Amino acid sequence: MTVSASIPTAKSRVLIAGATGFIGQFVAKASLDAGRPTYALVRPGLAGCPSKSRVLKSLHDKGAIILHGLITDRENMEKILKDHEIDIVISAVGGGNVLDQVALVEAIKAVGTVKRFLPSEFGHDVVRADPVEPGLQMYEDKRVIRRLIEEYRIPYNYICCNSIASWPYYDNKHPADVLPPLDHFKIYGDGTVKAYFVAGTDIGKFTMKIVDDVRAINKSVHFRPSSNFYNMNELASLWEKKIGRTLPRVTITEEDLLAIAAENNIPESIVASFTHDIFIKGCQSSFSINGPDDVEVGTLYPDEAFRTLDECFDDFALELKDNNKDLGSNGNAAPNHVVESLALSAPCA
Ligand code: NDP
Repeated sequence: MTVSASIPTAKSRVLIAGATGFIGQFVAKASLDAGRPTYALVRPGLAGCPSKSRVLKSLHDKGAIILHGLITDRENMEKILKDHEIDIVISAVGGGNVLDQVALVEAIKAVGTVKRFLPSEFGHDVVRADPVEPGLQMYEDKRVIRRLIEEYRIPYNYICCNSIASWPYYDNKHPADVLPPLDHFKIYGDGTVKAYFVAGTDIGKFTMKIVDDVRAINKSVHFRPSSNFYNMNELASLWEKKIGRTLPRVTITEEDLLAIAAENNIPESIVASFTHDIFIKGCQSSFSINGPDDVEVGTLYPDEAFRTLDECFDDFALELKDNNKDLGSNGNAAPNHVVESLALSAPCA
């Protein structure tokens, strides 16, 4: 018997909470690109933040229906889910708002018509990874949401997409918004522990393939593209090739990362604790994913290519060239002493 991969209905109606956020934007754009009726739930008051207003306008221009509201407002969430006959709910709220999802889960349960819920995960498998504090608290919060979803028997996916394709700065929660280093590399430990890097566009694209794929229902979906499995030393060499020069390497030891985590500066210390988990402890590849509740996304869509890290770093090199043009230079990579990491965008807090 052949199992059909998708639910054979008209395109499912998708609600995305946090659609103007870092991960939410990728998901919302992919949903629109897939031709799905896409509803973006945004918090009121974005007018004060020009970069978010721009994102919202571009989503609207692509066809998104903008709804204002808070996921903590259970009554309003029930109304939205009912009024718009939402089939799929995707939450991409930030790490500090994970427990806000309790009211959203309650609303989904009360309505009873949502076919799939994807809570805000988009990182590691939080029941397997075990970072030090303060990162651990975020995982504890995500575990609470998982337990509630399972207790209420809401159909779900947990997206475990590992690291976003970028230089993994230990103090920046959105490293893909920043160019890789131009003065020196900070290498964690001996730089030999590998991690999986996934382009933001692929996080969006594959998430939107999974949402109504019956083969993935109630599973943690792991993103492990073998072409994008790099350690810090390899990542540094890749960037050096793109900019055509070598950079000094400074070692950040395990003790350094633990000390930064212990400072408890939020969010930098959270990122440091994840960096320690990834590049010292090897949390992304320390377990196999052949259990009944796991699936690797590449096995579901073997003919769909991931963007390679090489291509993503080409994009950064192009951005660097454009930035240098903007700065009036000749477009070559800037010399060591001139340019620190250039931010590609300026998100509001
Ligand atoms: P952001 O902080 O960039 O965006 C969060 C979004 O959620 C914002 O649009 C925010 O609205 C919205 N939001 C927050 N609270 C509420 C609420 N109560 N009701 C409605 N909307 C709300 O989040 P990130 O993209 O950084 O994080 C999303 C997920 O991705 C997290 O689980 C995080 O851990 C993970 N992540 C993974 C990364 C990786 O490399 N794999 C990197 C970064 C994050 P507003 O615009 O009004 O603030």
